[in-house]
Amino acid sequence: MIDPLTINENIKELGADLCGFAPVDRFTKAPSGFHPQDIYKECKTVIAFARIIPRSPLSATSYVPYSHFNTIVINQVDALTLKIVRMFEEIDIGCVPIPSDDPYEHWEPERAYGRAILSLRHAGYLAGLGVLGKNTLLINEKYGNMIQLGAVLVNVNLDGDNIIDYEGCITDCQICLDSCPQGALDGITVNQKACRQHSIYKTEKGYTLKRCNLCRKLCPNALGIN
Ligand code: SF4
Ligand code: SF4
Repeated sequence: MIDPLTINENIKELGADLCGFAPVDRFTKAPSGFHPQDIYKECKTVIAFARIIPRSPLSATSYVPYSHFNTIVINQVDALTLKIVRMFEEIDIGCVPIPSDDPYEHWEPERAYGRAILSLRHAGYLAGLGVLGKNTLLINEKYGNMIQLGAVLVNVNLDGDNIIDYEGCITDCQICLDSCPQGALDGITVNQKACRQHSIYKTEKGYTLKRCNLCRKLCPNALGIN
């Protein structure tokens, strides 16, 4: 018998700040080819989790701290994902790990549009970790949008966590839309091409930096819902 509470506690002990379960039947709106069962046929539950991204790099005037430490947190979430699948493998639970960020296969070059094999933002929402804001980021009540998501698909049924019913956005707020230098946000999606053209920057030495995080940083709920 698998105790969901024990699994949740174990995943937090391994390093997650948030963890929730989404039964696979909640993914009815996933596009064809990007459903959890398109990745792992036996999937019955999507376990979504997250680690906090430190807020201090947002105070820097240089792009370097945010770019660098954001990448480290992505790698930490991938390392956590591996620890979680190792835990499941040891007790013979079938599972598949999902990358926290790159790589993915789907790419439409004309509009510089990429799509992850599974939308972690939607998985996080369906697992009760937060709600999507107009900046397209998942907003958690306690940690705001400064979280990096991960997921593991498992072949066992786990009771789903409650889907969030609080509002992620402040009524009539559109700070993220108004502050985006590219006008890339429409309140529902992001124009990836417009965002990438501005936010991804290559230094002369060849380092790739993220030089824009305004839609994240300027959100009044960036660090939690007030
Ligand atoms: S990262 Fe910058 S360019 Fe991209 S959507 Fe956010 S504010 Fe706009
Ligand atoms: S800046 Fe305002 S509209 Fe944008 S995500 Fe945050 S609360 Fe929502």
